[in-house]
Order: sequence, then C-alpha cells, then structure tokens
Amino acid sequence: MTLPQSFSLPPFLASRPKPLFIDGKWQPALSGATFQTLNPATGQVLAEVAHGAAADIDLAVAAARRALEGPWRRFRPADRQNVMLRLADLVDQHFDELALLDTLDLGAPISRTRLGRTRAVALLRYYAGLATSTHGESIESSVLPAESLVYTRQEPVGVVGAINPWNGPIGMAIWKLCPVLASGCTLVLKPAEQTPLSTLRLAELTLEAGIPEGVVNVVTGMGDAGAALAAHPGVDKIAFTGSTEVGQKIVQASAGNLKRLSMELGGKSPNIVFADADLDITVPGAARAVFANSGQICSAGTRLFVQRPIYEEFVHRLAEHANGMRPGDPLDPDTLLGPLASQEQLDRVTHYIGIGREQGARTVAGGSRIASGEMANGYFMPPTVFVDVDDRMRIAREEIFGPVVAVLPFDTVEEAIVRGNDSEYGLGAGVWTRDLNTAHLVAHGLRTGTVWVNCYQVLDPAVPFGGYKMSGYGRESGNEHMREYLQTKAVMLNLG
Ligand code: NAP
Ligand code: MG
Repeated sequence: MTLPQSFSLPPFLASRPKPLFIDGKWQPALSGATFQTLNPATGQVLAEVAHGAAADIDLAVAAARRALEGPWRRFRPADRQNVMLRLADLVDQHFDELALLDTLDLGAPISRTRLGRTRAVALLRYYAGLATSTHGESIESSVLPAESLVYTRQEPVGVVGAINPWNGPIGMAIWKLCPVLASGCTLVLKPAEQTPLSTLRLAELTLEAGIPEGVVNVVTGMGDAGAALAAHPGVDKIAFTGSTEVGQKIVQASAGNLKRLSMELGGKSPNIVFADADLDITVPGAARAVFANSGQICSAGTRLFVQRPIYEEFVHRLAEHANGMRPGDPLDPDTLLGPLASQEQLDRVTHYIGIGREQGARTVAGGSRIASGEMANGYFMPPTVFVDVDDRMRIAREEIFGPVVAVLPFDTVEEAIVRGNDSEYGLGAGVWTRDLNTAHLVAHGLRTGTVWVNCYQVLDPAVPFGGYKMSGYGRESGNEHMREYLQTKAVMLNLG
C-alpha cells in the first residue's frame, strides 16, 4: 500500500526517533532506548519512538507539579478558556494531519479518522465553556452564629496521570486532556505503545496554543511506564481507559497515596432488536454498532439479540450487509474498514473465532483473515457473524475486541432484559423498536452506563459516558466528568 498523491506524510514523521514531551521540551528517554510503531496495513515500521520508563515518569510528574504550582496556577478561568479555544482552532486546522497519523498508526480508515474532527473540536470548545462555568456555592449555616459566611471552592485535584488504549488515539487523548485543562489540573499522559504519534503531535500544539510548559507531558512507552504512573506518590489522580485486567492492577497500584481513579474498561454490550423495528435502519445500524473501527471499540454491540419473528430475515440481511463491508486500504477514502491494530489483536480475534466454532457456533459471514493479495501483509479480518450461539459460550461472554458479532434469538421484553444483563460488564446497550414503552422499559432495566435507542455509539461532549459493573466507574463528558478533576474545599468564617 502506497500513499496516493493526494496524501503527503506529515513533516512530524520525518524526525526520527520521536522523543518524549516533558516540560514543554522534546527529550529522549533517559535510558536512550526506543521502540518501533508499525503500520498495521502493511506490517512496516512507521516510526521510532522513545521508550520511556519509570525514571522518565519521575521527570514528567515533577514538571507537572511545578507547572501546577507555578505559571498554570495564575491562569484565571477565562485564561484557561482562551487557551482551550485556541487549541480547538489549532486542532481544527491540523486535523487532516492528526487523522492521517492515526490512519497510519492504527489502521483506521481515513474516512473514519477524518470524521473525528467535529468531535475533537467540539470537546475542546465544550470544556472551554466549563472552565468558566464551574464554581462553588455559598451555604447558610445553622451551626455558626448568624453573622457567618460559609462557601465552597472547587479546586483542581492536582497532577493527573492518564493512560490510554490504542483504539482511538487522538480522540481519546483530547478526551483526557479536556477536563485537565478546564479544571486547572496538569497532565502526564501515557499513550498506548501501538499508537503514540498523534498524541505527541497534540502535545506540541498545546504549546502553540499558549498552554504553559509542563502542563501537558507525554511519556511514550510500554505498560511499565503506565504502572510507574499508577504507583507514583506525586500523582493525585489516574484516568485510565483500557482493559479490565489492567484496570484492576492500577487500582491496586494506586492505593499507596489513595489516588482518585476513573476507569473506562471493557464491555460485552447487548444490542436488542425488537420485531417492530425499522429493519432498513436497524440492519446497517447494528452492523456499524459492532463492525465500526473493526470492532475495536469498548462499547461495541457484540451481543446482538433479535426477536424471534424476524430472526431469520435479520440474520440473512445482516450477513449480506457484513459481506458488503470488505476491509480495504485505510488510505483509500472509500474504505470503511481497515485492518486490526496489531498482529497481537489479529491473533486474539482469530483465536476467539476458533473457540466459537469449537463450542458449536457457526459463521454466516467472514470468519478468516484475508490471506491473499495486497492485504495479506496487514492484519485484515472481515466482519464476522456467528449464529447458533448459546449465552454460555465464550464468544457470547468475553470481550473479543474485533469485528465479530454473536446473533441470539429472544422472545419477550423481560427475557431481553435478563439476558442483556447476564454479563460481568455494563458499558453500553442498544434498543431498536418503534414502541416507546418497550424502549423505556428496556432502557430502565439494563444495568449499563449508556442505552442508545434507535441509534448506537453516539458520543456527545455534554453526555456522561462510562460503565456499570466490571466496565469501570467514573464518567467522561459532561459536568460529572469535570467534578472528578475537582475537589471541594469548605471555608467557614465566623464573622461575629
Ligand atoms: P490495555 O492492555 O489495558 O492497555 C491500556 C493502556 O494501559 C496501555 O497504554 C498500556 O500500555 C497500559 N498498561 C499496560 N499494563 C499496565 C499496567 N500494569 N499499569 C498501567 N498501565 C498499563 O488495553 P489495550 O490492549 O490497549 O486496549 C484494549 C482494551 O481496552 C479492551 O479491553 C477495551 O475494551 C478497552 N477499552 C475500553 C474503553 C472504554 O472507554 N471503556 C475504550 C477503549 C478500550 P501498553 O500500550 O504498553 O500495553
Ligand atoms: Mg496493550
């Protein structure tokens, strides 16, 4: 796969290796070590990146602390708003480059990564608003004498360590950055080893926007850099997105100084289609719900429950739709599906497809990697539809994180709720129906952080997103998100 003429490589890729971004300066890892990030569409090396470790995390945390107590502290809410609005404009101006970096690094098609512009810019502008509209309150005390004044202040929690997965690099980095800047916190961000490039470019843009040195630091590296951040006594909060397993390790590592935590973890989300649904929107909607980003989305609708009267027809139409979604060159603007993000991810998905078959399920679309032609060097897996699935099978219980859906028949509303809830996870859920009663009943009955009705995977900067159960805790987006980056101080004055 070669870059078509309409694409030029961002100049950012030319300097090699990519250093760490600490205290507003580019610097190599203290050890001098580097690692490679690959293009999953070709298996070729894309860039050499500094391999940060615990000693680099120490430097970054110290820089974040100095910025917190130094220049950043003097930024008034409107000053923070201004630099965030400037950053929003810069992200907008440079988004083609950021999208191209993610397409090369993650393999997500350019048609998808470019669509991220609207959300990236909207996030920054929304939180810029929160920077000036979040405040404490005054309270009438019944305990102090009548001549008294009691008020609360909303103060930043301090230095935030953010640890990101690889499945949506630039969007995820901005999502982590927004509440930090709006609340007056500072940040040390560890992107996933597979997709570090756009986050580094974003860090550079924060300086251009006028955000002081040390407010935003990026340490690229492996899981040990994340673990060092989670255990660091100088970090006040960890915001983590990734697997439930790593989330549990972070909870344990954070106990030393009782860090505040937010955890956006895995999912096995039910997507429930009732017989009265409009199939012309539901079939493509259910396909996008699970196959978008090649299924590498935490809230993907992987357990697709279809009411029995329409089950056969639905499976037939879904398989046809899936077969029409052939993966292709992610740089081709017409491509809707790219490769999986890595060899490791391809192995994982292939392994699960094998388990599904061993346990008696049957594929009616997809089911094996694309092993010939130009795509054979990349990690391409077509959309895969399983039928004859039982709720107990591993493909119906465990997170696969690939373009694989299990289609399961059901009969009643009550049954849909019970089976929808029969999972250790509780991140997202979908309901497709024309009946308002059914929609609300199911939405209230499901134990998930989000329920989408006649739509799926819609994210809005103003709407809180997060998990129930093993999908984590804490919410991202909306006022609730801001509160997790603030702590309340009560000031009680006796004026008598
Ligand atoms: P992961 O293995 O949990 O890794 C996530 C991040 O944690 C990476 O930056 C990773 O570094 C780092 N890490 C690894 N071990 C660590 C440790 N002991 N302490 C601290 N940090 C550590 O997840 P992934 O493989 O990148 O992504 C796939 C998973 O993320 C899926 O389970 C998916 O559901 C979940 N996810 C959830 C959401 C959500 O919003 N709920 C969103 C996206 C993804 P390395 O890169 O070096 O491994
Ligand atoms: Mg990983």
